[in-house]
Amino acid sequence: MVLDKLSNSLKETLKKIARAVLVDEKLIDELIRDIQRALLQADVNVKLVFELTKEIKNRALKEKTPKNISQKEYLIRIVYEELVKFLGEEKSEIKITKKKPFKIMMVGTFGNGKTTTIGKLAKYYSKRGYKIATLALDIHRPAAIDQLEQLSKQLNIQCFSEKKEKDPIKIYKKFEKEYKNYDILIIDTAGRHALDKELIKELKDLNSKIKPDENLLVISADIGQVSRDLATKFHETVGITGIIVTRMDGTGKAGGSLTGAAVTKAHIKFIGTGEKLEDLEEFNPKGFVSRLLGMGDLEALLEKTKDAISEERAQDLGKRFLEGEFNFLDLYEQLEAMNKIGPLDKIMELIPGASGMKDKLPKEMLQVQGDKLKRWKYVMQSMTKQELENPDVIDNSRMQRIAKGSGTNVSDVRELLKQYKMAKKFSKVMKGADGEQDINKMMKKLKGKFPKGF
Ligand code: GDP
Ligand code: MG
Repeated sequence: MVLDKLSNSLKETLKKIARAVLVDEKLIDELIRDIQRALLQADVNVKLVFELTKEIKNRALKEKTPKNISQKEYLIRIVYEELVKFLGEEKSEIKITKKKPFKIMMVGTFGNGKTTTIGKLAKYYSKRGYKIATLALDIHRPAAIDQLEQLSKQLNIQCFSEKKEKDPIKIYKKFEKEYKNYDILIIDTAGRHALDKELIKELKDLNSKIKPDENLLVISADIGQVSRDLATKFHETVGITGIIVTRMDGTGKAGGSLTGAAVTKAHIKFIGTGEKLEDLEEFNPKGFVSRLLGMGDLEALLEKTKDAISEERAQDLGKRFLEGEFNFLDLYEQLEAMNKIGPLDKIMELIPGASGMKDKLPKEMLQVQGDKLKRWKYVMQSMTKQELENPDVIDNSRMQRIAKGSGTNVSDVRELLKQYKMAKKFSKVMKGADGEQDINKMMKKLKGKFPKGF
């Protein structure tokens, strides 16, 4: 995992939130301090760190926690969302068009991993069915040309190069007729130790002659915050369309290069995570932050808000439902769960083997919510244990008593009883049904028999 240290500190911080008894300003302040410390250690620019944490604090203090999740979860979600925003929000892919060839020019100073990354990209796109060629225009160092030739050979792809020629434009022109035979042409350019006048001129000339579809800046994670200046300069020279941060595996300070380059507004497209050709990852801020926070797919986890009802209990309820063996107590619990994790179809998803069935349940049945749920709960709270366990004993006079006791109308009680009977009937149908055809048949039979709002 890249940025292990940052990841560990952030994970500790989130654990602290999870263990806390209540979310108050003190906890939020502690969280903010922890995040600041962690990000500064990862070399993120101080100003950026303070902007980010200020936003987290503002949101944590001001925003109301949405109904379906706990305050702690919401706080974690805010941290997650703000970190994602910080890193560019959406995944930003390179859109390879049908144009032949689609030209990708790689720029960056010497030693940042440009040539290696060309090999990685070539492999990445070859795997996806594109026909690739590389073009060696780093003419100042013969070894650089050898390196690209070797990488291309290893990947079995065409490499255009001309060691004797010292003018990169001439080399580009020399093979111009052949490029159209390839889907993607990846162009290596000269590096140098800094972006000096000569390099600026060379890159500008190449840029106006080649007119690349993408100009990708390659920077190494270990250069840190210098990336800000470097990215700005390269952007002024050729107009950067994307950034690749290499050597993410080799430093705990990648925060600087990850965020510094953002001044160009060009997004990070890939990260390099090792020396081998397969050590290239698409950069996806959401996935990246999830991993940093140690939550696998944090988003899905937060969405599920599992603690509303334990998975086991949901499975048990679901099974009983499918077996036609449930009473009002179960129904109550189920309605309760619906209130917390959403409609029945969500619950069905938690039940192994039942997720396919949810498509077959009538929509109205899956979406009982809001006020009606509340009223039904009051109704059930006014029932005796006997009535809950065996709703069949509820006659008209009992209905009146229950309505009075719960502050509802007899019609509410009646509707709930109807719901119960329908659900029971339905669950019997499910139990008796054998295979899809039967279910479909039964569904047809039942159609139109559900009361409104059921
Ligand atoms: P260039 O001068 O920009 O073309 O840089 P090179 O492609 O020659 O790479 C310079 C060094 O960085 C080489 O030793 C590469 O193996 C190494 N390198 C490139 N990318 C990565 C990476 O993602 N992780 C690690 N660990 N090393 C890398
Ligand atoms: Mg090189």
